[in-house]
Amino acid sequence: MNPELLLSRIRIVLCRPSHPGNIGAAARAMKTMGLSDLHLVAPKCAFPDPEAEARATGAVDVLKGAKIHDTLPGALAGSILAVALSARRRDLGPPPGFPREAAWQLLAEAAHGPVALVFGNESVGLSNDEILQCQSAVSIPTNPDFSSLNLGAAVQVLCYELRLAAYSDTLQPLADPRVTPFSSPLATHDEIEGLHAHLKSVMTETGFLNPEQPGRLLPKLRRLFGRARLERDEINILRGILSATQNRTGHGRKA
Ligand code: SAH
Repeated sequence: MNPELLLSRIRIVLCRPSHPGNIGAAARAMKTMGLSDLHLVAPKCAFPDPEAEARATGAVDVLKGAKIHDTLPGALAGSILAVALSARRRDLGPPPGFPREAAWQLLAEAAHGPVALVFGNESVGLSNDEILQCQSAVSIPTNPDFSSLNLGAAVQVLCYELRLAAYSDTLQPLADPRVTPFSSPLATHDEIEGLHAHLKSVMTETGFLNPEQPGRLLPKLRRLFGRARLERDEINILRGILSATQNRTGHGRKA
């Protein structure tokens, strides 16, 4: 697929950005590398804002096209892969990889549907809940004593790697590990969230999960399903099992 089209399918998602200047810098970083699909989740600063426009310089079109969402699921709706950007290793969530490998994976999967890179707030980064909505994670290698890049700079590093990979002569469609005679398209973020909500209900109804004391059960399940990269048919099978269980336990949907 043509590199320009692949790059246009990659969403840059900024969660709760505090400084309008950083939003502008992110838009500029994107446009210089051929990306344009900017999403903001609950910005903590006024937006639109003259400082954002000043920092975007020639990328005001990217800024003006930014889509605003209340929550991360809104920004990830329809996407088939979400990659979290974090300067720190977290207890929960997928183990972080390198930007270069992530860029190749994002481009390979962008051929099948929209994919997203998810960045955190300037002072607190991404929440655990946000990280657990992503199927993989990336840390930019840095000086271990000073590992936090400016938000716009982090966006620039990833967009650069994406461009380098997209225009590399050796860009081959990566071998698709899902190509089996019975594979189906990858599940979208909203389909995966539907499975988690359904699982939570059944685990609560059957007494397996005590919502007052959930422990790490839900994050661990998120990590498991994140690693599995569920396909649509697989979600339908799992939800079918859950519905059958609910019918037996009397919690099924009443006709
Ligand atoms: N103090 C925050 C860092 C915020 S920097 C923290 O400790 O998490 C704002 C965002 O830029 C981060 O949430 C992350 O998405 C991105 N970022 C900054 N430095 C990074 C790095 N070394 N690797 C990956 N992402 C980074």
